[in-house]
Amino acid sequence: MDLIRTPDQNKERKRLNKENIFKDFEIDKSLLSLGKGKKYFLYTYGCQENESDSEKIRGMLSLLSFKETTIIEEADLILMNTCAIRKNAEDKVFGELGRLKQLKREKPEIITALCGCMSQEESVVDKIMKKYQNVDLVFGTHNIASLPNLLNTVMTSHDRVIDVLSYEGDITEKIPVERQNKIKAWIPIMYGCDEFCTYCIVPYTRGKERSRLPENILNEVQSLIKDGYKEVTLLGQNVNAYGKDFTDRDYDFADLLEDLSHMNIERVRFTTSNPKDLSDRQIEVLSKGGNLMPYLHLPVQSGSSKVLKKMNRGYTREDYLDRVEKIRKAIPDISLTTDIIVGFPFETEEDFQETLSLVQECGFEGAFTFIFSKREGTPASKFVDESITDEIAHERLYRLNNVVNEGYKKGNERFLGKNVKVLIEGYSKKENDILMGYTEHNKLVNVKGDKKYIGQIVNCLITKAKTWSLDGEISKEQYS
Ligand code: SAM
Ligand code: SF4
Repeated sequence: MDLIRTPDQNKERKRLNKENIFKDFEIDKSLLSLGKGKKYFLYTYGCQENESDSEKIRGMLSLLSFKETTIIEEADLILMNTCAIRKNAEDKVFGELGRLKQLKREKPEIITALCGCMSQEESVVDKIMKKYQNVDLVFGTHNIASLPNLLNTVMTSHDRVIDVLSYEGDITEKIPVERQNKIKAWIPIMYGCDEFCTYCIVPYTRGKERSRLPENILNEVQSLIKDGYKEVTLLGQNVNAYGKDFTDRDYDFADLLEDLSHMNIERVRFTTSNPKDLSDRQIEVLSKGGNLMPYLHLPVQSGSSKVLKKMNRGYTREDYLDRVEKIRKAIPDISLTTDIIVGFPFETEEDFQETLSLVQECGFEGAFTFIFSKREGTPASKFVDESITDEIAHERLYRLNNVVNEGYKKGNERFLGKNVKVLIEGYSKKENDILMGYTEHNKLVNVKGDKKYIGQIVNCLITKAKTWSLDGEISKEQYS
């Protein structure tokens, strides 16, 4: 008999402020050979949090003896780890699911699974149940650690399993992780989000803001150091709120950065920051430098205080500019990037002009720019403003991108003729004998060089600045 537990976005809305629930991943030993001789294909859409979840999915599937394939026709199991942040991300997934119907007709024994943020949406699961009989398994962001058991049910009973929980969420430690990159690692430091920006679906798909214990994070970094990792990126939807939910200790994001700054990891980055929780103390710790990189992604979303209020961002234009001034005073050469939404309901041309002027004033060296996308169940989906047509929204995005691209270029040009430290990650995708890596300021650099440099931090002289990347050469003088 099919197992059906569908999401309930109303339940996700509630924040009961209960104590965090901590669990350890467990697996029944009888499942360890479940995937013997079988292959899986994994799609990952969306943000770094999804990338990180996919590393856990890979870890669990390896434990079950599945092998990964990059050829979809070879797969016995196809998983789609999805993103719900904008409608076009969802359309892509439905398009792909439609194409997979044919594959299922040819090979009915294939198992198709959908997980990630889309699974937590009522309308999506409803559509899957009615129109996509080719999907055998749906599980959500809260029960990713149940994947072995859910797969076992599907594989042994051949029933359809839709198991999506809607609650505040827990913290499950010790899920096996199979990392794609052997030099840089994602480390989730918290899950969920309590900010409820009016446009955003995340608080309804990922539960309440809950922080991992610092000792677990620091131990994970320690073991990555042992494995030769050079860089960690701390992940959370609002990393600056890390630790606010602790009831047994006084420990926040500044403390975590401080502790990490004393560890033997070469580079520490984090994303995403929320201006409203970026404290003076966090800026002060960051300004000490060392392994804390001079780069900050600080989403502003809009330059207009009126629009920011409608977005429920919790800060004004002036507050944001004040944060930026403090950061620049403390770390003058920092590279700042941001996220911006255009065409938000009630955004007038004057509001948009304020966004353009803020971008110039802040000197952003990059931005992810988006057209507002209505997300069912969020407050902004009910804001009605017919004055912003598709054409106006696209035209604003175009004008914004022109200003943002100037910032990218200027941000790269400031390194022309300078020596910078580049963590070499591998060969450039475009050219075989060209190595690529990132500077401390998170600039992409291409250099000619030997593969012995892969995984090393190398001193490079920047010889050319383009809009999206820098060209350089490996300097004769190297750091010890
Ligand atoms: N937690 C982060 C923050 O607050 O900045 C990032 C959240 S989200 C994964 C990444 C970006 O997607 C947001 O910063 C926002 O610019 C954009 N975004 C979120 N919801 C959106 C929507 N409904 N329409 C358009 N863009 C959206
Ligand atoms: Fe979404 Fe706002 Fe939370 Fe970021 S802080 S995930 S934009 S609700």
